[in-house]
Amino acid sequence: MSKEVKSESVSLCPLGTAAAPEQEPLCIFGTGDFGRSLGQRLLQSGYKVVYGSRRPHSCDPLPQGAQVMSHAAAAQSASVVILCIHREHYDFLETLAPQLKGKVLVDVSNNLKKNVYPEANAEYLHKLIPGAHVVKALNTLSAWVLQNGPSDASRQVYLCGNNVVAKQTVAEMATKLGFTVLDRGSLTAARELEDFPLQLFPEWRLPLRLAISLSAFFFIYVVITDVVYAYVKNGKDISFRIMVSLANKVFPIVSLIMLSLCYLPGVIAAFLQLYRGTKYRRFPDWLDRWMLCRKQLGLIALGFASLHVLYTLIIPIRYYVRFRLAANTISQIKENRTSEFDTDVAWRSDSYLSMGILGFGFYVVLGITSLPSVSNALSWREFSFIQSKLGYVTLFFCTFHTYLYGWNRFLFPSSYKWYTPSAYMLCLVVPSVVIVLKLLLLLPCVDHRLVRIRQGWERTDPEEDSNKSLLK
Ligand code: NAP
Repeated sequence: MSKEVKSESVSLCPLGTAAAPEQEPLCIFGTGDFGRSLGQRLLQSGYKVVYGSRRPHSCDPLPQGAQVMSHAAAAQSASVVILCIHREHYDFLETLAPQLKGKVLVDVSNNLKKNVYPEANAEYLHKLIPGAHVVKALNTLSAWVLQNGPSDASRQVYLCGNNVVAKQTVAEMATKLGFTVLDRGSLTAARELEDFPLQLFPEWRLPLRLAISLSAFFFIYVVITDVVYAYVKNGKDISFRIMVSLANKVFPIVSLIMLSLCYLPGVIAAFLQLYRGTKYRRFPDWLDRWMLCRKQLGLIALGFASLHVLYTLIIPIRYYVRFRLAANTISQIKENRTSEFDTDVAWRSDSYLSMGILGFGFYVVLGITSLPSVSNALSWREFSFIQSKLGYVTLFFCTFHTYLYGWNRFLFPSSYKWYTPSAYMLCLVVPSVVIVLKLLLLLPCVDHRLVRIRQGWERTDPEEDSNKSLLK
C-alpha cells in the first residue's frame, strides 16, 4: 500500500452531512458537455457548483445557479475538483499545482482507443500533480445519463484511487446523485476503468463472429453446390433461388450448429472432469470463455431459427412455387394422369414438420427463460432444468427434424454434387456428436461417477497413495 493510502490528511468536509454541500462548492474544470451535465445534476442534488474555465467571461450558458471563474480561483474555492476536460489538455494543470495541493482531483476522462498512452489518464494526472489525491470515477457514465438520470444499464459508478478518504468523498457524491458505487481499489485499476466504456458487447463478439463465419461459409457452399452446379452441369440459371431458397437453407443450418455449440462445451467439461477425476481443477481458458457465451450463442441460434420459420411460412406465396404447382397440375391434365398418394411421403413430411414445430417451440421457451426478468423469477433448479434438460430435448428435435428432411437422400449418389455432401448433411455433424456424447454421459455408470465428482469426490492417484503410506 502506498504512503498515500496511510496518510489520510485531506481536509475535506464530509459530504454526507446535511449542511456540508451548501457550505463548500464542488469545482468542475471544463464547461463542455460532460461538465455542464454533471454540474446540472449536482445542482439538482443540492450541491453548490463552481466552474473553472479558460474563458470565464465568454463561455456557453451554464446551469442556473453555477458560478464560473478562472481555474485558479475555482480550485481555491473547493476541496473537490472534477476535471471534465480531455487528457490531451491536462498539461496546464501543472501550473496550478499549488492551488490543487491536498485537493481531491476526480478524473472522468476516457480515451478513444485502448493503450493509446503508456499509463492510465488518472495515473498521468497523479504524476502531474503528486500533491493531490486523484480518484478515477464517473467515466463510465455519459453526459446524457447525467442529464436524464441513471437507467438500469448505467446505475453503477466505478471508482478507484489511493486515498481512502478521497474515494469516500467521491462515493458519497455519486450516491447522492443516485448511482451505486463500486470501489475497484487503488489507482492501478484506472486503466481497467478507462477501458470499460470502450467495450462493445464483449460477450457477444465471439458468438457474432461465429454466426457470421458460419453464414458466409454455408452461403458460399450452397451457392456453389446449387446455383453454380446447375449452371455448369445443366446450363440452368437458378440464381433467383439465392434470395429465398438458399437463405432458407443457410438459416436453419447456422441455427442448428450454434444450438449444438451451446451444449458442446458442457459435454466437453463433463468428460474433462471424468478424465481428471476431480472438479477442483480449472478448465482451460478457451473452455471457460466458450461456456460464458452460451447464452449469446443460444439467442443468436434462436434468431436464425425464427428467420427460418418466417422464410418457410412464405413458401406458398412465392411465384416460383405457385408456377411449379400450376405447371404440374396442367401437365397432369394434359397427359391425363394422376399421381398416387404416397403414405410414406405423408408420414415423412408430417413428422418432419412436427419435429420442426416442436423444436422451435422449445427453442422459444429456452430464449424466454434466458431473459433476466424471467430467469430471476426461477429457482436455480428450475432454470437449469429448462436450460439443460429442455435444451437437449430442443437439440434432439431440431436434429431429428433435419434427419427427416434428408430422409433417404443420404443414400442417393445424386445428393453428392461434385462428390460433396449437401450442406444440411454437413450441419448434422456437430449436433449428432453432441447428442451421442450426451447419451454416453447418461449411461448409469458414467452418470454415477460424474455426479460423485460434482459432489466433491476426487480420484486419488494410486502412486500418491502409496507414497503417503510410506511416509506414515
Ligand atoms: P468537451 O465538450 O470537448 O469539453 C471539454 C472542455 O474542456 C471544454 O469545454 C473546455 O472548457 C475544456 N478545454 C478544452 N481545451 C482545453 C485546453 N486546451 N485547456 C484547458 N481546458 C480545455 O468534452 P466533454 O464531452 O465534456 O468531455 C470532457 C471529459 O469528460 C473528457 O475527458 C471525456 O473523456 C470525459 N467523458 C465525457 C463523457 C461524455 O458523455 N461527453 C462521458 C464520460 C467521460 P472551457 O472552455 O470552459 O475551458
